[in-house]
Amino acid sequence: MLNGFDQMRTTFGTAKRLFIAFTLLVSTFAVASYLTLAHVRQIHDGLLQMKDHEEGVRVALELASAVRDQYAHQAHTIILGNDSHLPLYTDAERHVTTLTARVRKHALRADERAWVADIERATGDLDRIFRGQIVPAVLRHDVADVQSEHGRAQAVVTLIQDRADRLVDRFEASIGDFQREVAALQTSAYRWTVFFVLFAPLLAVVVGAYVLRSVARPVARLQAGAARLARGDLDTRFDTDAPDEFGALARQFNAMTVALKDHQEKLVQSEKLAGIGRLAAGVAHEINNPLAVILGYARLLRRKADGAAAEDLKVIEDETLRAKLIVDGLLDLSRPLASEPEPVDLRALCDDAIARLRETRLLEELGVRVIVTGAGEVQGHPQKLRQVVLNLVKNAAEAAGEAGRVEVRVEGAPDGARVVVRDTGPGLSRDARAKLFEPFFTTKDTGTGLGLAVSKGIVHAHGGEIDAESLADGGAEFTIRLPAVPPGRV
Ligand code: ADP
Repeated sequence: MLNGFDQMRTTFGTAKRLFIAFTLLVSTFAVASYLTLAHVRQIHDGLLQMKDHEEGVRVALELASAVRDQYAHQAHTIILGNDSHLPLYTDAERHVTTLTARVRKHALRADERAWVADIERATGDLDRIFRGQIVPAVLRHDVADVQSEHGRAQAVVTLIQDRADRLVDRFEASIGDFQREVAALQTSAYRWTVFFVLFAPLLAVVVGAYVLRSVARPVARLQAGAARLARGDLDTRFDTDAPDEFGALARQFNAMTVALKDHQEKLVQSEKLAGIGRLAAGVAHEINNPLAVILGYARLLRRKADGAAAEDLKVIEDETLRAKLIVDGLLDLSRPLASEPEPVDLRALCDDAIARLRETRLLEELGVRVIVTGAGEVQGHPQKLRQVVLNLVKNAAEAAGEAGRVEVRVEGAPDGARVVVRDTGPGLSRDARAKLFEPFFTTKDTGTGLGLAVSKGIVHAHGGEIDAESLADGGAEFTIRLPAVPPGRV
């Protein structure tokens, strides 16, 4: 039996530990896969952002060049003194507007957006100065006005260049940041990959070794044990106290082999007994009639004889009687109970058995006091059950001896009854207890050793049990347990 602690340890047995080991292995691979994918994803995002900022740098540089182009057309208009460059200026101005819109998409931070807003505002200012002030002044040939407005236009262009340069610097700096970030991610991904490449096989080896130790080996041992058992070695045992399923299996296997051996021994014993019984019954049957004839003639001759011859004939008569008792006992052992069971008043049956015993004057000769108490009723075979009680009380009286005491207790219960015969004799020796119910076991000079064997056969035929024990304060106690109704025909 397992105690509570062992039970708990068994609950966390091999199956659970294997589950944990495999979960650990699978989790490790899952974490490794997740980390690798996360790194790949971050590197991919970083590369995308780098590309975006590279595009930003390119557009910002293009914007700076387009503004210079726009300004060049303004300069040509001033130098030529006419508006022939106006269509080219318009194209350049549109190009600047388009590029500014593209730069805006790459400006993500607040200051970057503010610089783009400055460029937009300045581009509008530049256009207004050119179209509203410079072109009319050029056409008017107003040199002073042209010079002053040209100065303003230059300041605006410088501002646009400055903002475009800032954006280029910022985008380039971001590209540097992203490059460092991606490089760091690559290093980290590389380290994790190396770690898992080394750690995962190591973990797999540890889990494999654990599976080998906790599953494969016990299974191999159990298999070897089962093979020994199959070869007929019923002394096969597993020396294990493992608190897991295999330990429990091994303990059950041990219990099974013990039970199997016990069962086999009983089977062999009962086969042996059955064989001996059949042989003995056959012999007894054949001897019974000659014995009756010998006994008859011995008695007849004794009546006619006297002196030494009469004494010799008495010996022949006694020994023939003893032989007849043995023969009757053997026939009892082999005879099945033929009739239908009927209600049996066990108290009356015990009283009757003791009355018959009194007729033999045995109790009187021994000076033994017999007390009967209790009551109970079962279905059974009264004659045979009386024979059992008579035999038990006779044995008890013989054991109790002079001034001894025998107590017969009948205990009735709804599912059957018990008859307990207790005496004040010397009790049962260890040897006697082991062989009590074997045929021909006797410690008495004139005993047959068949009384208890026959009694056991009768009780078993009633579906009951009989057992014996030595009492602590001396004496022996025999108990018959009978079911209320015997199974099948008795
Ligand atoms: P028998 O009485 O012919 O010897 P049994 O089968 O009735 O045969 O008994 C077998 C043996 O069991 C006896 O010889 C005796 O040694 C032992 N025995 C039986 N009953 C008792 C008892 N009440 N106290 C001690 N020994 C007993």
